[in-house]
Amino acid sequence: MIRPLWVEVDLEALSRNLEILEKRIEGKARIVATIKQFAYGHGLLPVSKQLALNGIDWFGVGSVEEAIALREDDYKGSILVLSSVLKKFVSYFIHYNIIPTVVDAEFARALDREAAKSKRVAPVHVKVDTGMGRLGAYYKDAESFIGELSGLKNISLEGIYTHFPVADTDSDFTNHQIEAFNGLLKSLSARQIGFKYRHCANSIGILNYPDSHFNMVRPGLILYGVYPTPLEEIGVEPVLSLKSRVIFVKKIEKGMSVGYGRTFIAEKDRFVATVAVGYADGYPWSLSNKAKVIIRDKIYRVIGRVCMDHIMVDLGDDGNISQGEEVVLIGKSERNSITAEQLADWAGTIPYEIVSCLSLKIPRLYSDSLL
Ligand SMILES: *Cc1c(COP(=O)(O)O)cnc(C)c1O
Repeated sequence: MIRPLWVEVDLEALSRNLEILEKRIEGKARIVATIKQFAYGHGLLPVSKQLALNGIDWFGVGSVEEAIALREDDYKGSILVLSSVLKKFVSYFIHYNIIPTVVDAEFARALDREAAKSKRVAPVHVKVDTGMGRLGAYYKDAESFIGELSGLKNISLEGIYTHFPVADTDSDFTNHQIEAFNGLLKSLSARQIGFKYRHCANSIGILNYPDSHFNMVRPGLILYGVYPTPLEEIGVEPVLSLKSRVIFVKKIEKGMSVGYGRTFIAEKDRFVATVAVGYADGYPWSLSNKAKVIIRDKIYRVIGRVCMDHIMVDLGDDGNISQGEEVVLIGKSERNSITAEQLADWAGTIPYEIVSCLSLKIPRLYSDSLL
């Protein structure tokens, strides 16, 4: 690594976070560890391997490509694709033994035919829309849709699930979703249609809605030690750190400006460090003049606009910081920390976007290789 920008991933922290969640669920539900989008930027295979070592045998991925990557890595457990896939690709589900989310009958029929060809019965999870307005049949129409699916001989209705859009902000709506889901399960059960796995809960559902656990849960962000929204602290720790180094230091005089747009003008003489990270790395441009960083266990502010591959940091009178000094962009030092949640707040976005948009070009160092 010549350009000094890297992500450190603490796999032990990931394991500890998983343990905390497991306690929370009290052994009542299976965990589908959600590792879509390169495990939220943490690295698909190292994260899946670590979690598998800890006993996870269900993964939720975002694409068939991610599922195949797990299979090619010799992962043998269950994989659920948490999205809808175009029906011309059904054969992948059979060939790689991947579980699709079924949201339309055309796809289900194509999968049924493909499974029949290889004399298999393909498990599927049906997604129902109880208020997300995204994938799946609206719950009021779901009964007839699922009735239709139940007639297909070469698929098995293994799971049914739904998703929460406002678990962080609207408990009435979320509770209504849980009720709607329960109601649907009941009417299906009256028609002798049952599902081995029933699931609703994402991270916030797990923390705030015990009634939503059913017998399977789908934690994502919280596994990585990041809170989706300000919530009761449960002791999880951030798994990921983003670090760089000072690549240049200079003194600027009162009245000089820093960066594109001259949005920062020095009101007195000061030292300025240039650091190797920019918006093309996933450090958002909207952090311009807002973010903070840690150097030598002290907090400094980012001044001027975030450039494509640089930021500038106000060192104030501190002329002791020199080229090569480590800069913590996300992570902690002895007494200070900068979290993905804080960066999201400064950038006017959500922590999900901060971690999942860290460029894939940034080298990831895993705890073993950190030692
Ligand atoms: C991403 C995702 C999750 C995990 O959500 P978090 O908020 O990260 O816990 C769960 N279910 C589905 C369907 C998802 O797409």
